[in-house]
Amino acid sequence: MKNLTILGSTGSIGVSTLEIVSTHPDRFSVVAMTAGNNLELFVRQIRQFRPRIAVVASTADIPRLKELCSGLDVTVLGGIEGLIAAATADETEMVVAAIVGAAGLVPTAAAIRAGKDIALANKETLVTAGHLFMNLVAEFGVRLFPVDSEHSAIFQSIEGHRCKDIGKIILTASGGPFLNTPAAQLSKVTVQDALNHPNWNMGKKITIDSATMMNKGLEVIEARWLFNTPVDRIQVHIHPQSIVHSMVEYIDGCVIAQLGTPDMKAPIAYALAYPDRITTGVKPLDLTSISGLTFFNPDHEKFRCLKLAYRAIISGESMPAVMNAANEIAVAEFLEGRIGFTRIAETIERTMNAHSAHNLHSIEEVLKADLWGRESAREICKEMVH
Ligand code: NAD
Ligand code: MG
Repeated sequence: MKNLTILGSTGSIGVSTLEIVSTHPDRFSVVAMTAGNNLELFVRQIRQFRPRIAVVASTADIPRLKELCSGLDVTVLGGIEGLIAAATADETEMVVAAIVGAAGLVPTAAAIRAGKDIALANKETLVTAGHLFMNLVAEFGVRLFPVDSEHSAIFQSIEGHRCKDIGKIILTASGGPFLNTPAAQLSKVTVQDALNHPNWNMGKKITIDSATMMNKGLEVIEARWLFNTPVDRIQVHIHPQSIVHSMVEYIDGCVIAQLGTPDMKAPIAYALAYPDRITTGVKPLDLTSISGLTFFNPDHEKFRCLKLAYRAIISGESMPAVMNAANEIAVAEFLEGRIGFTRIAETIERTMNAHSAHNLHSIEEVLKADLWGRESAREICKEMVH
């Protein structure tokens, strides 16, 4: 039996994780769960999975959650202390990091320091503080399993091989809903258009990141840290069918890829049960029913966010944290209808232009850079509106 903490249980990844848990009650039990909002769903999950600890992100919601949980044997906590308590609970062996954004940083770091293995969905932690996280993972001797489908594919393609034999990593990208939209029309697209992802059903933030292709930029940075590979050896191929989840080319010219029906339950299950493979209910892949698998290079001028992410990781130090913060603000402003779609990249670029990268020695310093990026991006967005 593996004891889990699920950070962000009400999100898209959290819900899929709980589906795997409920399919394998003999293998997994939930010690602690946390949620940002959506208390109704959270309480249903608490009733079904009976965690010892339930945490709500805002302390203001503690009384309401307590009321909703009355009669249940659960400790209700809130705020950052609550998230840390969930991440470090004694019985927990693995923490599923599925909070969205830089908000996942502190609880995930606390989990590593408490010796917990991590199933990492929250890519923003590696984007903002990759070197610090990888050092923590080594220092505390924990295992970090990727949940992101591309990184799970790479992880599976590397099994039995050595990172030093990697020639290059090829991350595949669906291209999102605007793959075939002319660049000139992008400034006019609506929030609904951007939320309409062709292949994956995900939380709002990552869905917008997929539409701008910032998601792939974040994933390039995530891969850089997870597989200790320089970014000039990480390439992106657009692959609209989302069947090949990523590939590794070795120095001898051999390429190993992982394929499957696009469904996050597969990479989640691999991270939870590693090294075992367990049933997931994912629809089996029938290659004969697919008319073709196509691959081509992304348009870096149309999808400027991808270019900005490469620029940020090449610049290094605090730049990726600032880029990530600006992206979080710009995406939130776009979702609120306050800025147009193409203003997302513009906001990030202007924030990065205003930033002088400096070294980050601690999570606290990362959070400071993150705050600077947020405040700067907010100012830039305000100018755009007025
Ligand atoms: P989501 O928005 O559906 O869920 C996020 C979860 O985090 C929710 O439970 C929410 O209540 C909680 N949360 C949000 N803000 C919080 C805060 N400030 N403090 C505490 N909790 C907070 O997001 P998602 O799509 O499940 O994505 C989660 C993470 O996984 C993201 O980093 C995303 O990039 C990554 N990821 C998601 C997918 C996917 O298919 N959804 C695929 C790969 C990677
Ligand atoms: Mg992905």
